[in-house]
Amino acid sequence: MKFLGKSRSSTAAFLPVCCLFLKILQPGHSRLYNNRYAGDKVIRLTPKSEEEAYALKKIYHQLKVDLWQPSSISYVSEGTITDIHIHQNASRALLTFLQEANIQYKILIGDLQKALENGNSLGTQRRRRSLSKYNYEVYHSLEEIQCWMHHLNNTRSDLIQMFSIGRSYEGRALFILKLGRKSQAYKRAVWMDCGIHAREWIGPAFCQWFVREALLTYRSDPAMRKMLNHLYFYIMPVFNVDGYHFSWTHDRFWRKTRSRNGFHCRGVDANRNWKVKWCGEGASLHPCDDTYCGPFPESEPEVKAVSKFLRKHRNHIKAYLSFHAYAQMLLYPYSYKYATIPNFGCVESAAHEAVKALQSVHGVQYKYGPASSMLYVSSGSSLDWAYKTGIPYAFAFELRDTGHFGFLLPEMLIRPTCMETMLAVKNITMHLLKKCPKERRRVNSAT
Ligand SMILES: [Zn+2]
Repeated sequence: MKFLGKSRSSTAAFLPVCCLFLKILQPGHSRLYNNRYAGDKVIRLTPKSEEEAYALKKIYHQLKVDLWQPSSISYVSEGTITDIHIHQNASRALLTFLQEANIQYKILIGDLQKALENGNSLGTQRRRRSLSKYNYEVYHSLEEIQCWMHHLNNTRSDLIQMFSIGRSYEGRALFILKLGRKSQAYKRAVWMDCGIHAREWIGPAFCQWFVREALLTYRSDPAMRKMLNHLYFYIMPVFNVDGYHFSWTHDRFWRKTRSRNGFHCRGVDANRNWKVKWCGEGASLHPCDDTYCGPFPESEPEVKAVSKFLRKHRNHIKAYLSFHAYAQMLLYPYSYKYATIPNFGCVESAAHEAVKALQSVHGVQYKYGPASSMLYVSSGSSLDWAYKTGIPYAFAFELRDTGHFGFLLPEMLIRPTCMETMLAVKNITMHLLKKCPKERRRVNSAT
C-alpha cells in the first residue's frame, strides 16, 4: 500500500481521496501477522558473571533470537538486563541450555501471539470514527496517521502547517507538522521526532497526543499558550515510515529502515546512521544486525532529509527531542563517549525537572543522564548529531515500560504514558523559555 497523497510541492493542502475511505489495516488473515508469533516467548536474563554473558552470546549466535534489549548482543556483559524474543521452535533448546548452564531467567511473555492480540484492538473490531473524532488511545497505521495530518492541516490552519521534507527509501512522503501561532517575528523552535525505530509504536502515539493536547489546551492553558505563541514545534510523527508500515503488515518487531544494500538482509538502524562518530562503538557493520550503521553516513533518505532540515534551521531550533521505547529513561548527550557536555548544568537541571514532573502524574520513575552511561555507548545517533550541530538541548526519551510488555505496550496504557510524557515535554519547553544562568558556553565547539 502506498500513500496517495503525492505532494510534489512542499505543502499539502488537500485531503487525499484515500483518507475519505479509511480502512482498517490488518493482515489478510484471521490471525494477526498470520499467527507467526504463536508460542514465541520473551525471556529476561541477567548474566551474573562474564562466563554467563559469554555463554549467552554463544547461544545467541546459534539460535534465531530477536534481541529486545539491549539493542546489540555486544552490549551484554555481567549484570546487563537482557530481553530476548525467541521463536517457538528454538525456545525449548534455549530453556534446556539455560537450565543446564544454571543461568537464571524469567519468562516475561509466555505466548507472544496471545500478548499481541490481547494488548490492542487490531484483531478485534476497532471502532472507526471520523477524522474529527480521531481516537488517540489506539495505535494507528501510517495511512491513518498521514490522513490525520492532512485533516489537521486543512482544519487547524490557525496553528498547524504540514509539509514534506522528502521521500523515504520506498517513496513515501516524509511529513512534518509545524505547530505554533504564526508570526512574522523571529521564533525559536523545538524539533520532535517519533518512530525512528519501527517497532516502538508508543512513540508515534505520543507525537499525535502532543499535537492533540496542544490544540485542545491552547486557549485554556496559559503554559501551552505561551509555548505556542513563543515557539514553533516541528513534529515528525513517524520518522521511519517504511519500517513502521512494515511493522504493521509483516513483522511487528521490525526495527530498521527498509533499504536494500545488496545483501539478503534489509534495512539500516536509523539511529546509527548519523554523521557523528559514524559506525564507531555500539554500531555494527553487518547488514543483518539490528544496529547496522549503513554503507555510509546518511545513507538512509530519511536520515538525510531530517539532517538537512535540522542543519538548515539550526539557528532557531533550540531543542531536539526524540521518542523511543522502552526503558523509562530521559537521555542526553553524549551517546558515543563518556564525557560531560559543555552545557551540562542547564541540560541536567532540565532533565531533573522533567523527570520530576513526569513522576508527579502516575508515580512512574524515569532515570536520567548521559546516554552513554545510562544505557550504553552508541555512535552515529541522532541525539549526538543534533547536539554537535548546535542544538543545545538534545534529549531522547525511552518511554514505558521496563520490559513487562516491552514493545507490546497495550493500548490502554497509551493515555497514562502520554499524559506523563506530556508534562515532561512541557517542562523542558518551559525551561527553554527561561534563561538558564548556567548556560554560558557555546556548544558548537563540542565534538
Ligand atoms: Zn529506539
